[in-house]
Amino acid sequence: MIYYFKDDFIDSSEATVSVMSPSVQYGLNVFEGIRGYYDSSKSSLNVVELGSHLERLIESAKFLEIKHNYDISKLHEIVCDTLRINQIKEDIYLRIVLLYDLPGSWITNERALLLVAPLLSYPFDVMKPAISAKISSWERINGRSMPPRIKAGGNYLNSRLAQLEIKASGYEMAIFLNSHGFISEAPGSCVFLYRAGTFYTPALSSSILDSITRRIVIQIILIEFGKIVLECNLERIDFYQADEAFLCGTAIEITPLKSIDNIEFNNDGNVTRRIMQVYNKIILGELVLSGVKLEKI
Ligand code: PMP
Repeated sequence: MIYYFKDDFIDSSEATVSVMSPSVQYGLNVFEGIRGYYDSSKSSLNVVELGSHLERLIESAKFLEIKHNYDISKLHEIVCDTLRINQIKEDIYLRIVLLYDLPGSWITNERALLLVAPLLSYPFDVMKPAISAKISSWERINGRSMPPRIKAGGNYLNSRLAQLEIKASGYEMAIFLNSHGFISEAPGSCVFLYRAGTFYTPALSSSILDSITRRIVIQIILIEFGKIVLECNLERIDFYQADEAFLCGTAIEITPLKSIDNIEFNNDGNVTRRIMQVYNKIILGELVLSGVKLEKI
């Protein structure tokens, strides 16, 4: 695979950094994970919400004062060129990272480099099986320590702690509470609850990433069910009383939850399945939703 790195298109094996770089030593990087779905009937790759991901990357870098040489249009051009050069004819997951290659401090003022790396290891699954979740005893990072709104490598150490904890107890996915005790998010995805005709999701102020898939799901629910999702503080009991619950994110897509803390959801998952079906149609380019942009490459 060809990556874009160090201002050039190079073989992935040559994309290396110093072990003393602050990205290696301290997790100092900002990144995006993006999906592209290959449409064999049109021989084109549909990259989902590329612009939104690039905007979030720039925002993350700005917050951490990570300097770089790229604006949105340059990033856009480089990403599209990387995909074209690789002549990708299958679904891909794209990693875009601003990172440091040379030795340096965590307070470095140097310019970061751009890495654009297409990966083939994230297969698309039309109907994901429901998984078990458990609320972790670890609290989500928050706006007074490290804002989860920023997609920085270091944030995933907090995610790691929660996921390690619940895996050791035999569960599949951790759910964080935030520092106020409200439901936050999963280590790498956002959460939605459905109860008696109403949809809920933790508000942006609940210590979550401003997920691009979350925005898409909110639109799907409006179009498909005519309902406005309540973005609010949610308590643990809201989770326990939900009829259905699911996770969403670029990598995980829409993944239903079968239980939380061993409490099974009542419903047979019909509502989640309907959302999943519409989401799949949108990302595969079979259904156009005005608020969701697919970049055809
Ligand atoms: N929360 C966290 C912590 C994540 O890492 C991700 C994945 N980027 C998400 C939510 C979902 O965000 P998105 O829909 O933009 O992929």
